Amino acid sequence: MKMMPSCREITEQASDYLDQNLSPWERAAFRMHLLMCVYCRRHVKHLGLTVSTLGKIAAEEDARKNDDIQQIVELIKQQLDKPTEQKGEECR
Ligand SMILES: [Zn+2]
Repeated sequence: MKMMPSCREITEQASDYLDQNLSPWERAAFRMHLLMCVYCRRHVKHLGLTVSTLGKIAAEEDARKNDDIQQIVELIKQQLDKPTEQKGEECR
């Protein structure tokens, strides 16, 4: 078993590391490499920022979608609450 992953392996594992998909051993080796390698530290930090930014945007879009659904629900409720004044004229 290798003691230390290479920079290439670190780059490949970076997203798994951020998603916490690595085994405890892989995580430890990953961190050990980051302690000694400025290049990979920078890479992972940058990737981490990108991931959290993307996550934020996705969360905001979800919130916006929920707002839209909420508005539609409100509109439907208003329609249902309306007295049925046009009964028999336009619907049939
Ligand atoms: Zn490295």
